[in-house]
Amino acid sequence: MSLKKLRALIVEDSEPDCVLLLRELGKAGYEVEHRCVDSAPDMEDALDTATWDIILCDHVMPVFSGPDAIRLVKSKGMDVPLIIVSGQIGEEVAVGAMRLGAQDYILKGSLSRLGPAVERELTEAENRRQKKQAERDLLASRKMEELKDEFIGLISHEMRNPLTVVVGTLAMMQNPEGFGPEDLRQMVDEAYLEAKQLEGILDNLLELARAQADRLDLHRQAIKLPELVRGVIDDTAAEVDRVSMSAASDTPTVRGDPLRVQRILHNLIENAIKYSPDGGDVEVTLEKGDGEVVIGVHDHGIGIPARSVAGLFQPFHRLEGSRLTKGTGLGLIVCQRLTEAQGGRIWVESNEGEGSSFYFTLPEA
Ligand code: ADP
Repeated sequence: MSLKKLRALIVEDSEPDCVLLLRELGKAGYEVEHRCVDSAPDMEDALDTATWDIILCDHVMPVFSGPDAIRLVKSKGMDVPLIIVSGQIGEEVAVGAMRLGAQDYILKGSLSRLGPAVERELTEAENRRQKKQAERDLLASRKMEELKDEFIGLISHEMRNPLTVVVGTLAMMQNPEGFGPEDLRQMVDEAYLEAKQLEGILDNLLELARAQADRLDLHRQAIKLPELVRGVIDDTAAEVDRVSMSAASDTPTVRGDPLRVQRILHNLIENAIKYSPDGGDVEVTLEKGDGEVVIGVHDHGIGIPARSVAGLFQPFHRLEGSRLTKGTGLGLIVCQRLTEAQGGRIWVESNEGEGSSFYFTLPEA
């Protein structure tokens, strides 16, 4: 018969009784790793420094007692089965111990019951553990479902608005009589911006899905950042004039996927504009670092409270103050995934009410 491993904490002041218990467990087929304690501090130390499958506990000891031991285990929120093993215990005292939380009690005179009792308690403890785990899993999956519903609602809402403008504009264009060329031009421009907005949301969604599935498929090459940044700024449909770039003439070439670097910059610049509703310049800076280039996007907008910085790069996470601004909470998580996939880092420095600087790095080519 192969021996079953058992980690037993024995609360007992009599050395011979401890040996007796170990012998009984051995007979029941257990290979026991044990520690014997007989005071509260020792028991606390044993609970804190090791993991136990079972606690066998005498009822009356000179400086400690069964009820004290049960309370100690409970106070630590541990679920380790505890069996009272005692020489002198009346029915009432035994019932009292079980009420307190002992799983069973065994008289020292009938130790042959110990093996089966331990076996049963181990099985029940395992069942309890599995049940708790199943409850935790269920809770997590419910939370996931809620998040998904919330997210679908948010994305649908964010996509519906631009789509309404595009469809409305196209409907009017079907009968353009009555509109002057200037009106038409303005309508097309607005619809174009809204369509770009839709495109941005879809791009971010797809990038996040690819990153989650580890299928980003990067096309890395040498990139001249000043040209690429210039292109993104020109392409930032709204309020181009507010955005400028400053780069040292010796900015090194970096290695990355140009489309992905464009996406990161696009998301950061859009945010910089969006979260500075009272205007102010947005500046993109390029600085040489140690084997990398640090790209900064700076604004003078609403800023981010220090306590919120940690949660900023969570998917779909939007800060309290941003709820009134359009957004999906996808932009920053996509920036983070894309930056890290290209061997870079991303972080933010911000003062609430003064503005934010988002930085990301790319390795030198
Ligand atoms: P979205 O802008 O669509 O909400 P992001 O993932 O791009 O999603 O940003 C997440 C949140 O981080 C925003 O909702 C906003 O609260 C905050 N944030 C991002 N960029 C800035 C910024 N430049 N200034 C202030 N807050 C910002």
